[in-house]
Amino acid sequence: MTPNIERATILVVEDELASATLLSILLSEQYQVTVVNCGEDAVASVTTNRPDLILLDIMMPGLDGYAVLDRVLELYPEDPIPVIFLTGITQAEAEVRSLNGGAVDYITKPYHPDVVQARVNLHLELQTKTRALTQANEELSHLSTIDALTGARNRRYFYEFAEAEQSRALRHQLPLCLVMLDIDHFKRINDVYGHATGDTVLTTFAKHMGQLIRSGDCLARLGGEEFAILLPHTQPEEAHHLAQRFTAQIAKLSIETPDDTPLSITISCGVTQVLPEDTNIDQALKRADDAMYIAKGEGRNRVVTAF
Ligand SMILES: [Mg+2]
Repeated sequence: MTPNIERATILVVEDELASATLLSILLSEQYQVTVVNCGEDAVASVTTNRPDLILLDIMMPGLDGYAVLDRVLELYPEDPIPVIFLTGITQAEAEVRSLNGGAVDYITKPYHPDVVQARVNLHLELQTKTRALTQANEELSHLSTIDALTGARNRRYFYEFAEAEQSRALRHQLPLCLVMLDIDHFKRINDVYGHATGDTVLTTFAKHMGQLIRSGDCLARLGGEEFAILLPHTQPEEAHHLAQRFTAQIAKLSIETPDDTPLSITISCGVTQVLPEDTNIDQALKRADDAMYIAKGEGRNRVVTAF
């Protein structure tokens, strides 16, 4: 049993005192148990404190078990609380209604204490496994958007982000700009210092760029030493100034290399506005890329904006 389950909190909702007491004694050996004797108190308790599992009676004065189940499921839609009905109603219709309504299990009275305990354990374990799986999926989904070497966003994410921002800009008539950045003479760095140093340069560059961009901007490695930044809500003049600031800051960097030779780099930037008539982001990328090549031709370490 995982430590998680041992510390689990159980809410018992039961209006019959004898049954409530019995369940409390039974479950308190392993769990932290709270007992309430009506549906209203159950909803109030779950609202302030999410229990790990609920044992829920159906027939109660006021809010009945079905109503409590509905409220409880609404409260935590992302991470539903396992609800086990524990009831004297033995009709199949009630069991079907409960399970269809979102209960995870249905136990009828009179119950054997060991059965209640076993089912509680089972559903707590299932919940733990489901959470672990959800977390692993979230991590995987995040990793699938990241460039493994530099930690910047990858090309695939950039295209998805750009598509979403492009439609948003169009819908709300917001300015959207794009910067292409390329590390100058990167091939020479690789040739002279080796690929390990080249990788260090890329990683250090991406890390510093990540600190320079604003929240809401998207820095991505499109391939090799080529990066792009999408700048939502940004006019071309502002994008040009931002790119100049990036260029100046990167030129000041002293990059530690594996052989302890500090290395400086410069970048060339091409800036463009994503226009309403651009049918896809590639058209804007092409303009920014052309502007970036003009910056290279004019001596590198500079910004050219294609208006
Ligand atoms: Mg009852």
